[in-house]
Amino acid sequence: MKIVCIGRNYAEHIEELGNERPDEPIFFLKPDTALLKNNDPFFHPDFSTDIHHEIELLVKIKKEGKSISKEFASDYYDEIGLGIDFTARDLQSKAKEKGRPWEIAKAFNGSAPISNFVSKEDYDMKNVSFKLEKNRKVVQAGNTSLMLWTVDEIISYVSQFILLKIGDIIFTGTPKGVGQVKIGDRLVGYLADKKMLDFEVK
Ligand code: MG
Repeated sequence: MKIVCIGRNYAEHIEELGNERPDEPIFFLKPDTALLKNNDPFFHPDFSTDIHHEIELLVKIKKEGKSISKEFASDYYDEIGLGIDFTARDLQSKAKEKGRPWEIAKAFNGSAPISNFVSKEDYDMKNVSFKLEKNRKVVQAGNTSLMLWTVDEIISYVSQFILLKIGDIIFTGTPKGVGQVKIGDRLVGYLADKKMLDFEVK
């Protein structure tokens, strides 16, 4: 399976990092070795001193498809979840400066903690709220209504370039409020009011 991540999908997050608003979705990949499941702890790597949390809504692909049209994109997933796109912001800044790829900052072991998945039927995909608490304080709160590109548009766009296969996971971008994690932090993520993630940084 592969993990496809969308960058810059929320206007206020683009602003907080001083990035340019893209005219097309931006995506990158993480390897399956980035996955962290079952609320296992995240071990802070020592190659970065600025690992950021990015809470994101996830969708899981249930049907193989390429060049999927927007109109049919919703047939390609029926489960959603919550994940964190851990980012070594210091390494990413250096990579951006030098025009290098982002993998070094995005694809490391454990950089993709994910929750269990739940049926999308219980949610209005255009209005799904989610949030992240760090040490019991809300640090990020998002809603899919604020996305620049909807889930269906993302699936359609990505599938023009990459065949989507059963079990692939899409990280749909982070809302504002990204910030550093430190050893000892506890991260708890909610999809609407449902607790989906709860783990420690070690
Ligand atoms: Mg992200």
